[in-house]
Amino acid sequence: MPRDPSHDILFEPVQIGPVTARNRFYQVPHCNGMGYRDPTALATMRGMKAEGGWAVVCTEQVELHYSSDITPFIELRLWDDRDIPALSRMADKIHEHGALAGIELAYNGMNGPNLYSREVPMGPAHLPVATFSYDPVQARQMDRTDIANVRRWHLDAVKRAKRAGFDLIYVYAAHSLGFLHHFLSRRYNTRTDDYGGSLENRVRLLREITEETKAAVGDTCAVPVRISVDELLGEGGLYKEEVEDMIAMMADLPDLWDVTLAGWENDSVTSRFGEEGAQEPFINGIKRLTTKPVVGVGRYTSVDRMASLVRKGVIDLIGAARPSIADPFLPKKLEEGRIDDIRECIGCNICVSGDFTQSPLRCTQNPTMGEEWRKGWHPEKIRAKTTDKPVLIVGAGPTGLEAAQALGKRGYDVMLAEGSTQLGGRVALEAKLPGLAAWIRVKDYRELQIRQLPNVEVFFDSQLTADHILEFGVPRVAIATGSTWRRDGVGHAHTQPISIAPGMQVLSPTDIMQGTLPTGKRVLVWDDDHYYMGGIMAEKLAESGFDTLYATPASEASTWTRNTMEQHFIQKRMLEKGITIRSFLSLDSIGAGEAVMQCVFTGREERIAVDAVVLVTARKPNDELATQLRARQAEWADAGLEAVTVIGDALAPATIAHATYAGHRFAEELDEAPHDGSFLPFRREITELIPTP
Ligand code: ADP
Ligand code: SF4
Repeated sequence: MPRDPSHDILFEPVQIGPVTARNRFYQVPHCNGMGYRDPTALATMRGMKAEGGWAVVCTEQVELHYSSDITPFIELRLWDDRDIPALSRMADKIHEHGALAGIELAYNGMNGPNLYSREVPMGPAHLPVATFSYDPVQARQMDRTDIANVRRWHLDAVKRAKRAGFDLIYVYAAHSLGFLHHFLSRRYNTRTDDYGGSLENRVRLLREITEETKAAVGDTCAVPVRISVDELLGEGGLYKEEVEDMIAMMADLPDLWDVTLAGWENDSVTSRFGEEGAQEPFINGIKRLTTKPVVGVGRYTSVDRMASLVRKGVIDLIGAARPSIADPFLPKKLEEGRIDDIRECIGCNICVSGDFTQSPLRCTQNPTMGEEWRKGWHPEKIRAKTTDKPVLIVGAGPTGLEAAQALGKRGYDVMLAEGSTQLGGRVALEAKLPGLAAWIRVKDYRELQIRQLPNVEVFFDSQLTADHILEFGVPRVAIATGSTWRRDGVGHAHTQPISIAPGMQVLSPTDIMQGTLPTGKRVLVWDDDHYYMGGIMAEKLAESGFDTLYATPASEASTWTRNTMEQHFIQKRMLEKGITIRSFLSLDSIGAGEAVMQCVFTGREERIAVDAVVLVTARKPNDELATQLRARQAEWADAGLEAVTVIGDALAPATIAHATYAGHRFAEELDEAPHDGSFLPFRREITELIPTP
């Protein structure tokens, strides 16, 4: 299908200082949990974005000096010349596919406790370091010598970045992260010298560093400045009018303005708490302050919206981190008019959790993300089938759908049998919960792909039994039958079922998602799962008019969602909806009309009168079908059945990202020799044992 001419504007080149972006698609810097530990995996991932048509592909934040490390987070480093080769590898991979390579140099200052270097952190004032983990470390106030030193270190890193081959070299002053942001903000900058106080003074360091960077590399490299337009803290933090004045003061000094919100959780807000383009009101109007191009993000996947942003003069370049992770080929697909083939980001922030857990980036929508080098997976290409044996997949949740579409693309004949009348499994149910509507894209993308594959047949209303499967005579069967939330209390706290009084209403998230609500008024949601489900169950029950008590053995609601930067938003919303939140409380047993709770520290008992309890604890794999088939293995040969593989939640329940990964892995590895664990199923890079001098 040819491209809609109204989208042509997105494919115009844009001049950025001395370099030219081939179109308006710009992968802004984003973290990935690989950094200095996995340089080739990271370089290959960035190269994939370039192959997918992005005009500019940037690094994550790159530590520019050892005196400001951000351990335990794993980012890139440019501490000395020995870091150049890893960065050059990335620039080369990006250039191979005709994109510009950008590098975001960062001096974290009081955002890093310097756990690795053990240097004393520095910032504009004597203040505790601002970290997610409340490290018991203070930053010291920088004096004039310190300021001169950091300027010199920045310049050294800029020159190294140029030698490494980068085309855009950032001055980073955004996200409440890093010393330049801290100098801009009255929240941190309480100085009385000529770097503090007035707006002009607070901007001085940013201006000086931008000028020095331009003077050093401006002949061949573009120098973008990344700044946060608002911290959403009112006048206590940086706010739009103030930042607009700052931008006006530097107007045309940088070659590009990269405008964001701060903190990172506001900029990369999840779809549960922010719509596509949530940043637009904040970045609107920046362009009139400068003649230089402006890039901004907003989890944009709607092409009409992108084109209209450019046409309206809001931004010149469509910035993207998450949409480029979910679909590295988004620009290519748009260019070719293949809008329906785009794997749209669902805004879940599982990608962000890679950074927070120091593990390689993963993505719910794009199971190949982070595996481009480790496993040689490609988001758009998959090797052709190696046999003509058809495959039956039982269950059309995210696991089964991904397996079916990927196997279909390999050319296998695939039968996808779904017991219900709809596709999507857990995603179809969860997308109806408050705030999760965008998650249905996991199903939508795969459904559209399968429809285009004549070799994949879908059978609805097909609740398969072992008899059916043995009758079919299909050689390979994948069991992707998912999981069911437990109703017996087994989870993290209890490894055995708890005592439940007969007749008490005890429900699970599965019951509630399938439309059963408790009777009565007072409901306890006991969350021993700790991801989003407990909080969202409480939200749904409160919305349905129940007097809702949420209790957790953890210190806060949905505690794992710290890794998706949602915890604060979740607890706020729950409190605003009138939900009572009780921390450090374990559910001991359920009596008649009461929940027997225990303090996790003292064991002190507390009896709470309730009409019903919703247990959000663990899930049981739906693996009965696999068990039955295995019990009848003697009949397989006659039935033509060769292998039964259990995948996804049916094997071990986990996140939706685990499910799409499991489905994809099954498809990638079908017909490979069985893997017995005697060698690694992925590549890694080993540290060379050469000490620095
Ligand atoms: P996953 O996350 O692993 O994809 P889900 O729970 O989302 O798991 O999806 C499992 C799907 O399997 C559901 O749509 C369910 O209706 C379907 N299913 C479960 N058992 C059977 C069966 N025996 N035959 C066909 N479909 C089944
Ligand atoms: Fe989007 Fe979720 Fe993928 Fe991140 S993990 S890119 S938020 S779909």
